Order: sequence, then structure tokens, then C-alpha cells
Amino acid sequence: MICVSIGRGRHRMFRAEMEHLAEKGAQLLELRLDYLKGRVSLNRLIDNRPCPVIITVRRPQDGGRFSGTEEQRRVLLRSAIVAGVEYVDLEEDAARAIPRFGKTKRIVSYHDFRRTPEDLEEIHARLAALDADIVKIATMANHPHDNVRMLQLVQQAKVPTVGLCMGDIGTPSRVLAGKFGAPFTYATFHHERTLAPGQLSYDEMTRVYHYDQIGPETEVYGVIADPVGHSLSPLIHNTAFRAQGLNKVYLPFRVPPDDLAEFLQSDVEALGVRGLSVTIPHKERVTSYLDYMDPGVEGTGAANTIVWEDGQRKGFNTDIRAALESLEVHMRSRGGSAKDLKGRTALILGAGGVAKAIAYALTQLRMNVVISGRTLGRAEELADLFGCGVVEWERRHEVECDLLVNCTPVGMHPKVDETPYRRSALRPEMIVFDTVYNPENTLLIKDAKETECHTITGVDMFVRQAAAQFKLFTGQQAPAKLMLRTLKSATSAVKY
Ligand code: NAP
Repeated sequence: MICVSIGRGRHRMFRAEMEHLAEKGAQLLELRLDYLKGRVSLNRLIDNRPCPVIITVRRPQDGGRFSGTEEQRRVLLRSAIVAGVEYVDLEEDAARAIPRFGKTKRIVSYHDFRRTPEDLEEIHARLAALDADIVKIATMANHPHDNVRMLQLVQQAKVPTVGLCMGDIGTPSRVLAGKFGAPFTYATFHHERTLAPGQLSYDEMTRVYHYDQIGPETEVYGVIADPVGHSLSPLIHNTAFRAQGLNKVYLPFRVPPDDLAEFLQSDVEALGVRGLSVTIPHKERVTSYLDYMDPGVEGTGAANTIVWEDGQRKGFNTDIRAALESLEVHMRSRGGSAKDLKGRTALILGAGGVAKAIAYALTQLRMNVVISGRTLGRAEELADLFGCGVVEWERRHEVECDLLVNCTPVGMHPKVDETPYRRSALRPEMIVFDTVYNPENTLLIKDAKETECHTITGVDMFVRQAAAQFKLFTGQQAPAKLMLRTLKSATSAVKY
């Protein structure tokens, strides 16, 4: 079950959100009375309420906004109990001062906005002893391992426990709460109005993560990155899992570099992780932890996918496959094949992770590859690895190429009016491949189309690498068209 927290300044807005959420299927609402401005009229909020509620009146020291006295706060909490609300949220001291009455259930809560304390078990025991129906512990995650400690606490607790880690490192604990036996998780009304750091919206919890279908048997997948905030992979993979009726969920794991070893060697097992997408800054470092590497990983020293199989960590590079497939499909649409590119010249802009995958792919096709990067040393390093040519960034337009591949982020949202390559240097019949996928129609792609070049977009490549990951994760063919539609509508490149 998902409990949606509402905090509004006016009673009318509170009621409107309550009705709206109940209509959308919410089963439990937390009313944060500390957000109300002026005199609180409890009856206006709870009379004829559309679904069960938790009444919470949080003080500033516990992350709330209540500005009255502690006596006034306790009067409010007591009134809610007398009025027979389903739950009240009582912090440790309030739980001691306010006795059980009637049918109202007691959530005894604890918050730490700085860290996840070492003595979680003792804190839990203290709260549980305060006549708690539910214990709630919310702490800041500073390491991915904090999620593991919190979820194990939830799983082992004798009293029903909601244990959540805050912050973006803590997001997995919110989504996996049900898998580990929590009676509910918390979400917010709208993703732009979070009431606690790292909280997801009700819409994301239901539409992206399908929270109510996550249980003890649900297999866990995800993307590791740092930062991970705006990854579209959870949306695409969860949509695909759902469409195929698979009991799997895909999460964003923010893993700082110093936590990578612990995450891969122990956290994944505790969380039930079966497969991961890997992105910046981990693609190269993860290779030290692999028991098997596919030829692309061997060739580039970078993996973007890890699958746990037969007790082994297996690494794959689906970026390379995706780039080759994008070129193959493109060349076939012109009556040829990617092999026809042999001996032709390709210019790669950028020398980072994607450039490495593309350079490897193009040398497999035996193209003559030239790399141009803003940082010459980095471009030279990459060129040395695969025996490519190098050209200074300022002279990139002088290379006569048949294929141009943008592997820099130039042109990406929000700087959509930028391009890494001057339009006047484009020539008709050139193939222009932009790996940027948000937006799909970058300025470079628009310029290329207007110059009558052939184009391949980052969306083509992104969906192909995600579809290849899906196959590795599930053994099944990916619903690629659905993944494509999902990505396009998420990036608003094309409205369906
Ligand atoms: P990365 O490792 O950080 O490399 C980025 C490269 O771009 C570096 O060489 C960097 O130069 C260069 N660069 C950055 N800003 C630049 C600028 N303003 N002007 C010129 N060069 C600039 O990143 P990555 O993982 O390779 O990703 C690069 C882009 O590929 C992403 O932004 C994304 O749009 C795209 N991508 C696409 C897919 C797909 O499947 N379609 C997948 C992943 C990524 P320095 O070395 O000087 O910093």
C-alpha cells in the first residue's frame, strides 16, 4: 500500500488533493497539518474523508513546519485521536505523553535528516516499546548500504515497520519497502512538492514502479550511476517488464564511486539484484569485479550491463551492439549492409565513454576512424587504443568523412540550440549519427536533414542498447516498439 503525504497551506486545497488522490485509487493519506496556515480546523479535513488518514503534525526539529507550541501540537494530535482518525504519527516524546485511546492506531516515528545511525535496532526497540502499532523510521542515506540496513530492519522487525532512507541514494528503500514486508511506503502528491528528500510522487510509484505489485518474490534490477537523477532507464525497463507480465522491478541506484565495491560485492545480494545497467562514472571500474566479460567489454575495458548468473557476475557492452545494429539497420534501409562502410572515413566527436564504444564498433567494421575531442590528450588516448587518427577540435570540420558521430553531450536538453558541428561543413549523403537522445531531433540532426544527409538518432541507439539489456535480464525478446514509444514520449521528441 502507498500512503500519500499531503501538505497544503489551505484547508480547501487539502480537501481537493484528498478527493483527487482517492479518485486515483490512493488507499491511505498522510495529512501534514503542520503545513496549514492559520487556525487548524480538523473537522474540515476529516469529516466524510474519502479514505483512511494518518494525522501528522511535524515540528521543525523533525523536518516539519509547525510553528505553535508543543502544547498546541499535542492538543491537535489528541483531538485527532478523539475524532477517531485511523492513525496518528507520534514522535518518541509525544508517544510517551499521549496514551492510546479508541480505535486510532499509533505510528511511533523517528527521523534523522543527516545520516542513518549505527544503532538502528536499538532505536527501533525503543519506539516499538511505546505501544506502537507501526514503527516508522526515516533516515538520510549517505551510502547505498544504508538501504540494506534499513530494509533488513524492516524485514526482521516483530512490529510492522516502515523503514525508509531519504535522499536520492535512499530511493530504492522507498520502492522496495513492500518486498521487505513494510505495511506501506510513503509518496508525495506531486513530484515537485516533496515533503521529504528523495520522496517519489504517487504517480511515479504507481505508473513507473507499479509499487502494489512488488512483493517478496519480485526480482530487482536497476541502473548504477552517480548522479542518477534524470535517468530514463527506470521508466523504459519497468514499462517493458510490466508489458511482458514479469515480476521484476528496475530502480535508480545512486552509487558514489567509493561505495561501488561494497555495492557490487554485498548489497546487490541482500537486495535481490539480478541485473544492472551501468553508466557514468562506473562503466570502466565495474570491470574489476566481473567474472566474465563479453568481447566488447574485453575490447573496450567498459561494461554497461552486469547480469548475475550461476553465481557469476557477467559483464556486457550493449552500447557497442546498439551502435552496430543502428548502422546495420540504416544501411539495410538503403539496400546495403554495415559491411559496406569498410574503408570509409568516420569522424567521432568526443572521447568519453560512448566515443569509446563507437570507436570500437567502427573499427570492427574496419572503418578509417578519426577522433576529435575538446581535450586533445583524451582523444589521443582513445585513438591509441584502437589505432585511430586524431584531429584537433578546432580542425574537426576539415576531416572529409562519410560518417559523423557526435559522442559529446552538445545539443542535449536544455541547451538544444547548440551543435558540435558547423552546418556549412555537412555534405549531402554523409551519415550523421547523433548519440544525444534528449531531444531526438537535435540541432545537428535538423541541420543534417536539411542538408540531405542520412541520419541516425540517439533514440535509435538508446532503445537498442536497452532492448539488448532487457534480453540479457530476462532471456526474452524486448518489446522494442513499446520501449521506443515510451522513450519518445518521455523526452517529448514525438507526441503519441
Ligand atoms: P563522457 O564520458 O563524459 O564524455 C563526454 C565527451 O564529450 C568528452 O570527450 C568531453 O570532453 C566531451 N564534451 C563534453 N562537453 C563538451 C563540449 N561542450 N564541447 C565539446 N566536447 C564536449 O560522456 P559519455 O558517457 O561518453 O556520454 C556522452 C553523450 O552520449 C551523453 O551526453 C549522451 O547524450 C550520449 N549518450 C547516448 C547514449 C545512447 O544510447 N544514445 C548512451 C549514453 C550516452 P572532455 O574530455 O574534454 O571533458
